[in-house]
Amino acid sequence: MSDTIFSKIINREIDADIVHEDDQCLAFRDVNPQAPMHILVIPKKPIDMLVNAEDGDQALLGHLLLSARKIARNEGYGEAFRLVVNNGEAVGQSVFHLHVHILGGRDFAWPPG
Ligand code: ADP
Repeated sequence: MSDTIFSKIINREIDADIVHEDDQCLAFRDVNPQAPMHILVIPKKPIDMLVNAEDGDQALLGHLLLSARKIARNEGYGEAFRLVVNNGEAVGQSVFHLHVHILGGRDFAWPPG
C-alpha cells in the first residue's frame, strides 16, 4: 500500500488535531467537518480499504468500533452518533487508508445520500 496523507499523520509528518491514540489506532478531527463532531479513527496498520482487510484483522476492526464509541462518548455524543466507512471510490472514498467517520451533533437523513 502506498503512503497516504493518513500515514503521514500517523508518522507526525503532517499535523492533525489528534483526539485519541493507542497502540492500534489513531483518531483525529476531520479537516472538512460535515457535522459538529466529525472525527476519523484509523488503524495504524496500513489497510487501504475494508474490502482488503484480512481475517486476522478481526480484533483490530472491533477495536476501531469500540474506540469510535469511546471517542463519541468523550465528545459528549455517546448516545447518538453515526459511523460511516466508505469502501471504494464509487461510494466516495478519497483517502485509501481505512477510516471510520464518527459523526454527531446534528440530524442525519436515512437513507444516506
Ligand atoms: P470523502 O473525502 O469523500 O469524505 P473518505 O471517506 O475517503 O471520502 O474521507 C476522507 C476524509 O478525510 C474526508 O472527510 C476529508 O475531509 C478527510 N481528510 C483529508 N485530509 C485530511 C487531513 N489532512 N486531516 C484531517 N482530515 C482529512
